[in-house]
Amino acid sequence: MSITKCYCGSQNNFQECCEPCIKGIKEAPTSQVLMRSRYAAYATHQADYLVATTHTSTRKNHKKAAILDWAKSNQWIKLEVINATETTVEFKAYYLDSNLQMQMHHEHSTFKLDNGKWFYVDGSFY
Ligand SMILES: [Zn+2]
Repeated sequence: MSITKCYCGSQNNFQECCEPCIKGIKEAPTSQVLMRSRYAAYATHQADYLVATTHTSTRKNHKKAAILDWAKSNQWIKLEVINATETTVEFKAYYLDSNLQMQMHHEHSTFKLDNGKWFYVDGSFY
């Protein structure tokens, strides 16, 4: 297996950073780790993980097919975490859209700890 620097920008290897969360080997210990692993899941088209890590209260708003389509139609360039608290993460995700135009998604996401697991609840966009 080749060594890949993690998509989330941590400088760690993907295999030791976000992949264990995506594969369900490891639980994200903080909301920021979950958020980073969700970005890496977009970059690697892991829509099941994105659905599974969305809180049940808002999951109905996030259809797997739409997530997969959005993940695949863009090329994920980099993630910048701007600010993080225990339950929120503000980040900028840079990507090339289907016309190869650079886009930036700026979101302030809210997370919830439920039975010891972190979930994405929702986000506001800038
Ligand atoms: Zn990572």
